[in-house]
Amino acid sequence: MPAPSADRTVAPAPGGLAELEARDITAWFGDRMVLDRVSLTMPAGGITALIGPSGCGKSTFLRILNRMHELVPSAQLAGQVLLDGTDIYDPQMRLMDARRSIGMVFQKPNPFPAMSIRENVLAGLKLTGTKASKADKDDLVESCLIKGGLWNEVKDRLDAPGGGLSGGQQQRLCIARSLAIKPRVLLMDEPCSALDPTSTRVIEETMLELANEVTIVIVTHNMQQAARVSDTCAFFLASQGTPGVIVEHGDTNAMFTNPQDERTADYVNGRF
Ligand code: ADP
Ligand code: MG
Repeated sequence: MPAPSADRTVAPAPGGLAELEARDITAWFGDRMVLDRVSLTMPAGGITALIGPSGCGKSTFLRILNRMHELVPSAQLAGQVLLDGTDIYDPQMRLMDARRSIGMVFQKPNPFPAMSIRENVLAGLKLTGTKASKADKDDLVESCLIKGGLWNEVKDRLDAPGGGLSGGQQQRLCIARSLAIKPRVLLMDEPCSALDPTSTRVIEETMLELANEVTIVIVTHNMQQAARVSDTCAFFLASQGTPGVIVEHGDTNAMFTNPQDERTADYVNGRF
């Protein structure tokens, strides 16, 4: 198991890096409880990995962190999500403000295929009603594509359709797109599981760079990936139809080398 590369210096940016804290999150679909009082602090400027078997509620938890859970009509929720101490579910907090602070990248790369690479990066500005001059937009496209690790590959064809890129490039375009609205937290739901090892490596390097300016939460089934990129880790489990809980969380290195719970030891060592 490679050692986690968590040895980074973090420069706090005003209004930038934020801590995300979930407090006693309980979630239901209809009358079925799928998460039971899950609490987790995701430190500012760190990468937190969420691991655990399929169906234990990791994606649901991630969607709760940026208020996408409420898009499902049968979904219900109790608990709090605090962004630097402010409850994102507080009626005073506008939904758009919560969502623009907390970006999301999904398992399957989903750029707008017919839109150009440039338009894809700028798409979030339209959605959030953010005004920018042409020069500002050019700068933003360049800086987001640099941060997404894609600039060198696409700088000569920014008007080509996003759908023409390879899978790994499309995922990096999605990362660049999510960065354009300057989120304080970036949620990534198995961002590499549809990608080949080379693209995966490039995205991991991109994540490690990005952690200097955005708090990252990543769901992954790849234990080596969790060990390589994350500072802290949370192990989710839902046994025999019970709702998902966090069995153990903490420093990634400690959890992988010296797990405190037998079930964590079994999982990180591939025994179930
Ligand atoms: P994971 O990401 O860990 O695989 P999910 O959060 O996707 O787990 O799912 C947790 C549980 O919630 C599963 O039992 C799943 O079937 C259920 N679930 C997820 N989404 C929905 C939904 N939209 N409607 C009803 N049940 C759902
Ligand atoms: Mg999932």
